[in-house]
Amino acid sequence: MGAQPSSADSLAAELRSAGHAAIDLLADFLAKLPDGPVFRPMPDTARQRIRDLALPESAQPLDALLETCRADLMAYPMGNGHPRFFGWVNSPPEVGGIIGALVGAAIDPSCAGGDHAATYLEQATVRWLADLVGYRLDGGIGLLTSGGSMAALIGLAAARHRAALEDGWSVRDDGLQGGEHAPLVAYVSSETHSSVGKAAEILGIGRRHVRTIRADARGRLVPDEVARAVRDDRARGLRPFCVVGSAGTTGTGAVDPLDDLADLAAAERIWFHVDGAYGALGILDPRLAPAFAGMARADSLALDPHKWLRVPVDCGCILVRDAGVLRDALSLVPAYLRTEQGQGFGGPPWFAEYSVEQTRPYRALRLWLTLAHVGRSGIVASVGRCVDLARGLGVLVEGSGDMELLAPVGTSVVVFRPKPGSALPESELDGHVRALVHRVQEAGRCFVTGAIVDGHEAIRACFLNPATTEYDLQVVVDEVRRVSADLRSESHQVGRGHA
Ligand SMILES: *Cc1c(COP(=O)(O)O)cnc(C)c1O
Repeated sequence: MGAQPSSADSLAAELRSAGHAAIDLLADFLAKLPDGPVFRPMPDTARQRIRDLALPESAQPLDALLETCRADLMAYPMGNGHPRFFGWVNSPPEVGGIIGALVGAAIDPSCAGGDHAATYLEQATVRWLADLVGYRLDGGIGLLTSGGSMAALIGLAAARHRAALEDGWSVRDDGLQGGEHAPLVAYVSSETHSSVGKAAEILGIGRRHVRTIRADARGRLVPDEVARAVRDDRARGLRPFCVVGSAGTTGTGAVDPLDDLADLAAAERIWFHVDGAYGALGILDPRLAPAFAGMARADSLALDPHKWLRVPVDCGCILVRDAGVLRDALSLVPAYLRTEQGQGFGGPPWFAEYSVEQTRPYRALRLWLTLAHVGRSGIVASVGRCVDLARGLGVLVEGSGDMELLAPVGTSVVVFRPKPGSALPESELDGHVRALVHRVQEAGRCFVTGAIVDGHEAIRACFLNPATTEYDLQVVVDEVRRVSADLRSESHQVGRGHA
């Protein structure tokens, strides 16, 4: 080798200098995050500056690009790293995960399959996930996905495939276009996440064949009503094939009666899919665990480590009881990808054969570093902490006198609103709550989202950040009260102006 530095040497040198600067930048960013607003709407100029970024003709030094990161990108984050972010189901970053993203990008394999470390790390971390939620994987398979939506698509694809096989035909050969087979029907609740319905649409089931059973007052699916719908559909010549239970609905955190649904699915010989994307981890809290009985009986279980487990986006997971049926449903190996197990690059059956994705990112590395860094006891403590916080806000709301809960505090979600009363008639409350949510978001003191609970507009707060404090809960109550009063006085003034 000559004196000329190799390109690998110069890559390493650049990574070393820019990498250290980047870590300092990230550390400063995260350290200061709690002092700033949770969210702030972007000024037009900043929006424009980012939108108009031009592809540079020549290579740019990384320190200049990092400066753009600092000044333009980090100045307007989504907000989910802040301890008073209670929106949707977006968790804050975790140090292990941040490092994991960096390390994973440096190795950057495709995790389609093959005899390299990433394959076995995915097997190990998926086993960890299955163990955490009490799902037995022997004979089954689990794999990481882009999220809960992809997990649902894969689970329902397996369900659809099995139903056709049982009826003596192949959905892969025939598709659903011919109309020669009885239409397949899926059963969900009115609280089931939209991704499940979307999966059914993509799979050609059709919205008309997704029975949406109205949840009860506690947001739970009623197994007897599912059973009745299944009987009715069979009587009409349709083919029930899948019932979906939620292990923590996104709206209110309600957990469906999973054990009863598992009984029903077994009796009717239909697939039982459980959507645990948001809430399955709730099983780790002894106060909640009994509600999750039956989750382990699912034919497929969707998880989302990029939610409660704080793995950097993206990281979802699907666990499937019968590995064979999933491989049968999705394996399509072109000649150029054919390998032999134990020979050359082969390795165990490729993840890509069980998935929609071919080239797959190194999610396992982010998952491994996050979970191993936090540790099992840390995961359990963090889940319990989030449940405590949600219950704490529930107590504050109930004791407030001017606000009310719209559903029992489920898992780690609280849904509430100002009490209907003389200050604000019920008829004006929905519009008021909608406006209030936007105003709270814009003000940046805390971040909540809206939800519809039993037909009423609600303020929704979801707890996933163990660093949130009791003080932060009081901020939510104070801020909702302040914004509500502001809105009422504004509309009062407008009203007077018109008079
Ligand atoms: C978030 C969520 C999903 C969708 O998962 P993505 O990771 O966003 O694709 C599905 N179901 C539930 C209950 C969820 O909370």
